[in-house]
Amino acid sequence: MKTKKVIVIGGVAGGAGAAARARRLSEASEIILLDRNPYISFANCGLPYHIGGTISKRDQLMVTTPEAMAQRYRIDVRTSSEAIAIDREAREVEIKNLETGEIYRESYDAVILSPGAIPMRPPIDGIENQRILSLRNLDDMDQIIAAVGGNQTAAVVGGGYIGLEMAEALRTRNIQTTLIECAPQVMGTADPEMATPLHHELIRNGVDLRLKETITAFEPIDNGLRLRFESGKTLDVGIVILAIGVRPETTLAVQAGLQLGPRGGIQIDNAMQTSDPSIYAVGDAAEINNFSTGQPALIPLAGPAGRQGRIAADQIFGRDSRYVGTQGTAICKVFDLAIGMTGLNEKTARRENILYEKIYVHMPSHASYYPGATSLSLKLLFDPNSGKVLGAQAVGANGVDKRMDVLAVAVRAGLTVYDLEEMELSYAPPFGSAKDPVNYAGFVAGNVLRKDMRICHTADLDFLAPDQVILDVRSAKEIATGTPAGSVHIPLEQIRERLSELDQEKEYLIVCRVGRRAYLCCRILEQKGFRARNLTGGYITYMHVKGLDAKKCPKH
Ligand code: FAD
Repeated sequence: MKTKKVIVIGGVAGGAGAAARARRLSEASEIILLDRNPYISFANCGLPYHIGGTISKRDQLMVTTPEAMAQRYRIDVRTSSEAIAIDREAREVEIKNLETGEIYRESYDAVILSPGAIPMRPPIDGIENQRILSLRNLDDMDQIIAAVGGNQTAAVVGGGYIGLEMAEALRTRNIQTTLIECAPQVMGTADPEMATPLHHELIRNGVDLRLKETITAFEPIDNGLRLRFESGKTLDVGIVILAIGVRPETTLAVQAGLQLGPRGGIQIDNAMQTSDPSIYAVGDAAEINNFSTGQPALIPLAGPAGRQGRIAADQIFGRDSRYVGTQGTAICKVFDLAIGMTGLNEKTARRENILYEKIYVHMPSHASYYPGATSLSLKLLFDPNSGKVLGAQAVGANGVDKRMDVLAVAVRAGLTVYDLEEMELSYAPPFGSAKDPVNYAGFVAGNVLRKDMRICHTADLDFLAPDQVILDVRSAKEIATGTPAGSVHIPLEQIRERLSELDQEKEYLIVCRVGRRAYLCCRILEQKGFRARNLTGGYITYMHVKGLDAKKCPKH
């Protein structure tokens, strides 16, 4: 194999992996790894957990050291070294040694850009205040830890996964914490009803959650900051953690005249090649293809960055690996809950005019008779014609990761809901159920597609047609704590005896706690000549859609 001189710019998730892969493919090549930080390969994803104290030692965040990387892989690791320009004509990278100030050039055969992303700082009055911090690297983390030491109150701005993890970390340190989000929900990559349990979990854990609040100014006050909101309200805090998202770090790419994509990331093809065939880009800075929509997208996640780094190295050394796209499989811990998602969500499906149907199931995380089972809520999006699994989201205290990973594979492999019905998944009472929530989601969606059960959604209950009636089949005890407005009540156990109370001219929208009793009721009614539809996910999903705390929904 031809030896090459490869310069990798950025030595963390995408870059370190790319450099290691390059070495494994070519023992004789010259590989230089540059990072402007004094370290490489640290665990970005672990930073909030060191701030909160779960990861007790700072050293645990160092995945590898420059010395270890140099020794094991014979890579020329240069820390505190910033690539300041790429001269594409001369095929040279201009590098600044940030310790000595020296500027020099290195020639290259190929460059892999993995410069990551930069936390967004919108042009709000007072945004430059020293008390407004963001979290991207170890230095940021150290600054936050130092600031937290002297302050008892904090505001986290932004309810994405970093904001949520930071809110938890600050509460773990007993800091009075306000979480501010301008959208009506946290975790914008999930659909709103799936975020509802997170809202209640945050509040239960003492976070002052402020949704639909937009900050208009930060004003310095004695020992802190005053936040002014569009609503006219104000909030005084010691420090602010800004976590409103990131933008791709494209400074070098722009300087080098590389093509950017419509979303502002570095444009690449499925070989991770930029508009210059000798330069590859991976990770948060690269504009990838959204696997679900086929559209250009920025989906900054660690897993994709690592896999893209491998592909870039493969390509440089003659292997034709290709990147299919990012489907956005992610998971986030929010106190005792986890939320996970993969593939298409409903917001995106609507925006992109993608045809879909959705169902919800709520099940125990493992056999309910075995101690410790908790409720797991699962939403499945599928193609109403082919049954192809388009995407899924889950929220619960346990077992979210397992279901999301199975469904991520289903999305990637193009499986259908019929495949989910047939899936053989690991089971013993401490771990799952003989019919896993994934199987169950398949059964429910399969019932819909086979027309064994017609379903409806909360929005249908809110806008009833004149011939529709909501029929709640839960017990009187359950209904006492809440039922959709205007519903009539007949417990499932009495339905066969009380059919004469129903009207053949009406269509009944059947509600129970999770949709299982309503399914049986639909089957009874349909076979007796009535029209019936099951509220998928039942009253639990109804509560999630309405923003209510479903933990207050009594058990059957
Ligand atoms: P990075 O890992 O950010 O590496 C870029 C490096 O390039 C940086 O060290 C930077 O200093 C260096 N650099 C930039 N420009 C230059 C230059 N010109 N010269 C030299 N060096 C340069 N993802 C998940 O999937 N799950 C999680 O749980 C998760 N949690 C996260 C928590 C936090 C707090 C953060 C900040 C991120 C988290 N992520 C998570 C995202 C994940 O860390 C990123 O998607 C991933 O690190 C991107 O890899 P990258 O190589 O593109 O960029």
